[in-house]
Amino acid sequence: MTTPPLDPPALPRLVVVDDERLIGLSVKRLLRRSHDVLWFESAREALAWLDEGHQIDVLLTDIRMPGMDGPAFLAHLRVARPELMARVLLLTATPPAELPGGLAPWADRLIEKPFHAPELRDRVAAVLATAD
Ligand SMILES: [Mg+2]
Repeated sequence: MTTPPLDPPALPRLVVVDDERLIGLSVKRLLRRSHDVLWFESAREALAWLDEGHQIDVLLTDIRMPGMDGPAFLAHLRVARPELMARVLLLTATPPAELPGGLAPWADRLIEKPFHAPELRDRVAAVLATAD
């Protein structure tokens, strides 16, 4: 008999980081049948959890959050978990043209809020298909 891995998600694991409860809950509702979805209300909480070394497949993060915002979160993540950078999608209610210039490299990773279920599923599936 072999020992199973300690942290074996049966479904692709998706982390959503957003200070809005409604967004966290709607991502869970839309994706939970096909993904193992975890929601964190703050980037600090998410970083603390990621620092424990948990494996994830997709990371959705809000840009505007109290405390650590999206760009600061990404800067920390790049150091702490660089292998996850290819798995990040950004959620924003701000039109892309009005986002800070530092986010320009992320233009093709933005999902505008409010998003619709098919768009969210397609974008997540695209990350799952290409990140490996
Ligand atoms: Mg927000």
